[in-house]
Amino acid sequence: MAESFDVAIIGAGPAGSAAAIELGTLGLSAILVDRSDFVTRRVGEHLNPQGVKTLEDLGWRLDCHLDLAREGTVVCSAWESSSPVVSSYLFNPLGAGLNLSRPAFEKSLHAIAKERGAVVQLETNVLGLHQLNDEWLMQLRSLDQSREVRAKFLIDATGWKASMARRLGAKRHVEDTLVCFHAVFGGMPRSLTAKHETEALIIESHDQGWCYSVGLPTSKGSYSIACGYLVDLATAASSKPNPGKWLSNRLSTIPLTAERVAGMELSTVKIELCPSQMLEPSSGKGWLAIGDAASCFDPLASEGIAKALKTGREAGHLARLVLTANRDSPSSQSDVEATRHAAFAKYSTERKQLYKKVCRWPDSRFWQNRAE
Ligand SMILES: Cc1cc2nc3c(=O)[nH]c(=O)nc-3n(C[C@H](O)[C@H](O)[C@H](O)COP(=O)(O)OP(=O)(O)OC[C@H]3O[C@@H](n4cnc5c(N)ncnc54)[C@H](O)[C@@H]3O)c2cc1C
Repeated sequence: MAESFDVAIIGAGPAGSAAAIELGTLGLSAILVDRSDFVTRRVGEHLNPQGVKTLEDLGWRLDCHLDLAREGTVVCSAWESSSPVVSSYLFNPLGAGLNLSRPAFEKSLHAIAKERGAVVQLETNVLGLHQLNDEWLMQLRSLDQSREVRAKFLIDATGWKASMARRLGAKRHVEDTLVCFHAVFGGMPRSLTAKHETEALIIESHDQGWCYSVGLPTSKGSYSIACGYLVDLATAASSKPNPGKWLSNRLSTIPLTAERVAGMELSTVKIELCPSQMLEPSSGKGWLAIGDAASCFDPLASEGIAKALKTGREAGHLARLVLTANRDSPSSQSDVEATRHAAFAKYSTERKQLYKKVCRWPDSRFWQNRAE
């Protein structure tokens, strides 16, 4: 006998977790499913002040999670020139941003979702997905069991691959793709300045791409810096056969980052694709895509986690509207689509303007391609 839920959410990253929390708050039953174990490293560390506000609205408190989040008050950017421009959140009315350890952050959201009544099922794959009359029927498979689940509404929160929506015929429209080489540096930094600035988010342009680094929360006396180097697909191919050595060599030529991580030890390198893309459509009869599944931004925007949390909350409200009206709510769904298109158009224009500002390497294909 299949278990029934109001809403099934596939993908338990920030977007899916926020949706599960909001649904629980609204009194709807939800199952949150993810294929991952939430042990392996995840990338994307800085939550902007807007996102912190949404997080607080979801019932998440920094003082309960000092082991996995720390305030990030400074953004230091050497973008147009090698001289860093420092901006501070000190005068931001919303307060500071947060630097997060992921996936511990996601786990803290799962705990709140459970408190609000959601069933959280990790290490589980969705084998079958069918819409029968007004219900979704899903076959779930985890290591030790298979389970059949029914739901009245489906939320795709599977990240940029939008796996569920694409099964339903939606298509990804990709504007640009970067490849991120991600590493975490541990141990003691050689430079005292770096040690005292571990909370800063540092962004630097480079001849073949750009780089970010951010201090992660750690226990007293230890330091941990997450670092991402973003290049295009052609440059990424030259990292073979030893991406770790290749990354170390590259980072050693990026001044602020090199100084920051000097003397520290590099972890294994994780390679991630970062597309800038929109999904079309992002909703249909009885389903909605949220977070990166609906639209995915360049990490330079530092908006992905905040957007995931916000669209997750909104999805909870939309699902309630659809379920209480006992039919699809085309006007609310078209409002969501209109807001999403407007946000992507704004992001896309700002992104192009930002890349065009870098004129330091006129012969570089990376910057030439993004100046067009
Ligand atoms: C290099 C890099 C740096 C970034 N830096 C930042 C930053 O500093 N600040 C910021 O705000 N954003 C940053 N981002 C973006 C941010 O990480 C994402 O926007 C955010 O994680 C999106 O959340 P999400 O919940 O939509 O998707 P995700 O976090 O991708 O979660 C999707 C979940 O779905 C699960 N899943 C996928 N497919 C299936 C399936 N078929 N079945 C079951 N489960 C499935 C996955 O296991 C995953 O848990 C960065 C991204 C990259 C790549």
